[in-house]
Amino acid sequence: NSVYETRQLNLWYGANHALKNIELDIKENEVTAIIGPSGCGKSTYLKTLNRMVELVPSVKTSGQILYRGRNIFDGDYGVEELRTRVGMVFQKPNPFPKSIYDNIAYGPRIHGIKNKKILDEIVEKSLRGAAIWDEVKDRLTENAYSISGGQQQRICIARALAIEPDVILMDEPTSALDPISTLKIEELVQELKKDYSIIIVTHNMQQAARISDRTAFFLNGEVIEYDKTDTIFSNP
Ligand code: ADP
Ligand code: ADP
Repeated sequence: NSVYETRQLNLWYGANHALKNIELDIKENEVTAIIGPSGCGKSTYLKTLNRMVELVPSVKTSGQILYRGRNIFDGDYGVEELRTRVGMVFQKPNPFPKSIYDNIAYGPRIHGIKNKKILDEIVEKSLRGAAIWDEVKDRLTENAYSISGGQQQRICIARALAIEPDVILMDEPTSALDPISTLKIEELVQELKKDYSIIIVTHNMQQAARISDRTAFFLNGEVIEYDKTDTIFSNP
């Protein structure tokens, strides 16, 4: 089953034609890697999937993106609704300058959950889901910036999990991290795909080969190859 179907998607930043006739079916419960050189449109494509790219002035799009069969560019499909289904993790860990607990409880609180016991449960479940509970369970009231960069990134993943998303978009989530933290995130991504669909932008081909089921190769705003990762990386 497809989580996203992208049909003839074009995107322009002013006169810059950044995405050209993108056609991709993103499968659920898989890790899809978006790879390609700098400036080829990877990040733009990812940010189109949750309509974040529209925050940039002068962006124009044509074509369709269906999320679970509904066109996200359709006026009656709200951005707010989409964002409750789609979690996002960025290159640089960006926890809120608040306690670890409040980072995770933030999204659920916005959605109206006030009960302390329920919030406690969500916080624990999300931190466990991001494989960081044991490391921070005695430090929940400490500022999220008091832990390492790799731990902060897993806090950001836990924060995304707390909204109970369907999809997790990751924009080069390990490129600011050391090798050990990178490995932990890669292992975590493998775990997460059992419950979520994951789309990860990476400029690291080895990483794509290690962790993804399917790979889309972008070049100059076009998808030049899209297939099962095993197939792509077995071709010389
Ligand atoms: P990648 O993620 O592959 O490095 P991007 O999606 O960031 O590529 O960029 C694709 C193209 O769109 C580039 O030409 C880039 O300069 C341009 N671009 C990206 N973000 C913006 C923006 N906010 N405003 C204008 N142009 C942008
Ligand atoms: P990334 O590769 O992670 O997208 P960049 O360094 O390319 O990061 O871009 C940093 C920020 O600048 C992003 O918000 C991106 O959208 C914006 N940006 C990139 N290229 C351009 C551009 N040509 N004009 C305006 N903003 C841009």
